[in-house]
Amino acid sequence: MNHSSDPASPSGERVLRGIPAAGGVIHARVMVVRQAAPEVVRHSLPAGDADGEIKRFQNALVETRQQIQEIQQRVSEAMGAEEAGIFDAHLLTLEDPTLIQQVVRRLTTDHVNAEWAFHEVIGQYVTALQVVEDEYLRERAADIRDIGHRVLNNLMGLAAEQGLARLSQPSIIVAHDLAPSTTAMLDRTKVLGFVTEAGGVTSHTAIMARKLRIPAIVGLPEATRRLHSGEYALIDGHGGSLIVNPTDATLFQYGQIRERRAAFDQRLSDLRDQPAVTMDGRRLVLAANIDEPGDVAEARRAGAEGIGLFRTEYLFLKVGELPDEDAQTAAYKAAVEAAAPEAVVIRTLDLGGDKLLPGALPEANPFLGWRAIRISLAHRDWFAVQLRSILRASAHGKVRLMYPMISSLEELLDANAVLEECRSALRTEGIPFDPELEVGMMIEVPGAALIASQFAPHVDFFSLGTNDLTQYTLAVDRMNERVATLHRVAHPGVLQLIHLTVLAARAHGCSVSACGEAAGDPAFIPLLVGLGVDELSATAAVIPEAKFLLRRLKYQEAVELAQAALKAGTASEVERLSRNVAEQAAPELFSDR
Ligand code: PEP
Ligand code: MG
Repeated sequence: MNHSSDPASPSGERVLRGIPAAGGVIHARVMVVRQAAPEVVRHSLPAGDADGEIKRFQNALVETRQQIQEIQQRVSEAMGAEEAGIFDAHLLTLEDPTLIQQVVRRLTTDHVNAEWAFHEVIGQYVTALQVVEDEYLRERAADIRDIGHRVLNNLMGLAAEQGLARLSQPSIIVAHDLAPSTTAMLDRTKVLGFVTEAGGVTSHTAIMARKLRIPAIVGLPEATRRLHSGEYALIDGHGGSLIVNPTDATLFQYGQIRERRAAFDQRLSDLRDQPAVTMDGRRLVLAANIDEPGDVAEARRAGAEGIGLFRTEYLFLKVGELPDEDAQTAAYKAAVEAAAPEAVVIRTLDLGGDKLLPGALPEANPFLGWRAIRISLAHRDWFAVQLRSILRASAHGKVRLMYPMISSLEELLDANAVLEECRSALRTEGIPFDPELEVGMMIEVPGAALIASQFAPHVDFFSLGTNDLTQYTLAVDRMNERVATLHRVAHPGVLQLIHLTVLAARAHGCSVSACGEAAGDPAFIPLLVGLGVDELSATAAVIPEAKFLLRRLKYQEAVELAQAALKAGTASEVERLSRNVAEQAAPELFSDR
């Protein structure tokens, strides 16, 4: 596709379309983010300019130090001081007198620009470290390179992906892609919206945008080339359009949408303490998905009844390594205490796919590869540390433990065996935990759904991960914008698997929840409820709408809808059926979609 000349209306307004990822409307300045190392060019300067360059260099060092201290502070709040200590080495590099002197010497004797002088000196450091025998020192080369990029970006006034945590101006970020770990660090006061070229609705970056309530569009082709830093644009996060240079008429139209939205939000907030019960009395649990203990407060504010999915891998991704047992226990305990008396479903590590630890080996098909429970079972030492931490936290409130990506009965039995070993070790050590702790597994792999009745005797609950279940059933990469329209949870094949899971659960007295993105999408909620799901878990931002709908829904109608949907031949038909029921029950939710 060639987008070299996007058609602009006579007013200069251009409309670009992508995939709506997180709702909301925002109008702001665009910042296009470069993701590779900055390109540094040498300039010769008049001899008298050295002082100015030295000043610029010093300012960049100060700015970099502030950025790192800010990241360190966030990591320390999320994970504790020990984990945040890894940034001390970064700070020391910035204060290294030899390094600073070498740069200053080049500025005064070579009469070059500060970027070039710093780039040359830091390059020598990295090269020298890369060839030493000592493994620890060799690893430091990566730290120094990272610091070097940061300083260069600050010198050049660029927002590097890592620098997004501290933008100088409130902006709409435009990037090829944003790693989930980067999105997690975004400063909400500065990142008002974002647009990426890559990704689909269920990519973890899109999920994070909804959590952070940042209007976002993903899968917008060639966005980094079609947009320019400094332009003004409006994101319509519901519709998936980016309107560049919007006219006054467009701004007025969207202003009205925002006003309507704000008035409706007020109505939604009145439901906060009401139960999620249908008009004809079917009681559901509407819980929240979280990534860190600090998210529980917002989940409560949104009216969630407990936590249905704690994605623990973000604790790991934020610090780039595996926290020890005490740090993990502290994080889980904090979440459990904050959610009390409601339960917290803590999912064991789901690394892999698009959630990679730094240094992870590249794979041709990461979603089919080294991911989730497969990593845990291969690294039993890590797995045991996590299970012990979860068990220890269970002494402080209601915890439910959940395994991700189980694809075979052997895996489940193996995981349960490690859990049993951890229980007995804690008993021997006299460390308390909840002996009644419930254990569940995610249903994300079609093969697992097909044999749900084999799993059911060994678990207390199932949780449908509709994001992955859809991806794996339909062979549609949830990250790939080119096939994003094929990722449809309403596909009759996916429905049959959900149906089988519910039947197996009912036969064995297990409960079933759904915690993929469909669980928080009003268009799919009637379908999931009608299929027999007992609990829905979604990001806090969408819980008020979900509750609004549930309280206007008739369970009996949802059941009839599901019966019709199970006989349907196409996803479009199922989507139409479910949306009709939702729209009739709560038209307010669909007026701006
Ligand atoms: C899912 O796959 O639906 C799910 C909830 O897990 P995640 O999005 O973390 O892969
Ligand atoms: Mg999943």
